Amino acid sequence: MEAQLRSSNVLLSRLPEREYERLAPMLEPVSARRGDAIYQPGGPIDFVEFPLTAVALIAVPMADGAVPTVAIVGHEGLVGLPALLGERRSLHGLSWCVSGSVVRIRSEDLLAAAVPFSQLVRVLGVYAEIRLGIVEQNAACSGLHEVRARCSRTLLTLSDAADADRLDFSHKSLALMLGVTRQSASLALESLRIDRKISYAAGHILILDRDGLEGTSCECYAILRSESERFFGPWRRSPSDCAARAGVAAPDQMALLPDGEDRG
Ligand SMILES: [Zn+2]
Repeated sequence: MEAQLRSSNVLLSRLPEREYERLAPMLEPVSARRGDAIYQPGGPIDFVEFPLTAVALIAVPMADGAVPTVAIVGHEGLVGLPALLGERRSLHGLSWCVSGSVVRIRSEDLLAAAVPFSQLVRVLGVYAEIRLGIVEQNAACSGLHEVRARCSRTLLTLSDAADADRLDFSHKSLALMLGVTRQSASLALESLRIDRKISYAAGHILILDRDGLEGTSCECYAILRSESERFFGPWRRSPSDCAARAGVAAPDQMALLPDGEDRG
């Protein structure tokens, strides 16, 4: 159980045995439910959370109701980064977008364990750098890259974070993540469906052709993925099974629903 817990988060799995054993008694397994808040805007960061199968969404709410996503965090990362940098309050609210398991540790316990020159300090430092890179890449991406390419990138990132090809997201939630209108998101998804990269039905999207989706994504996906793997090595747990489905025709009910009809 302990070994499985450790191997289920990329950052924990890259710690040497001795360092992980020092951390283990302070790690508390918890369940995360989709929609639950992790931190409130301006609220304390009492715990740093390492997702195992859950996925967190870091989004910035705007006055006009838009909530563009600035980062998607699954088993390849952690949430609570400001606490590692000495800031114990969260600027934005964070929530879980995929239910699943998480291990958490009190922020002060993690800081106390991060002794100089330890691998823990290096892993956390590298991860902080990667997250900064994600924010920088997103700033350029959202200003320059077309919606279909960004949509492909977001689906791939969600798939990596959740370690799944089936994503339980509606067109509306994807539009919110991309910071575009629902119509724009639906047009991008429909275009990807016609090209047989994905299929969708009410409330979920299925990746059929992962390699093809990488081809339609902007370069931002490959840049960030390779940067993360440069430090941590390959980290997708299970090989994608979408290749086996690549030749399967999308069922009729997965066709684009008429405008205005909710897909969940
Ligand atoms: Zn991009």
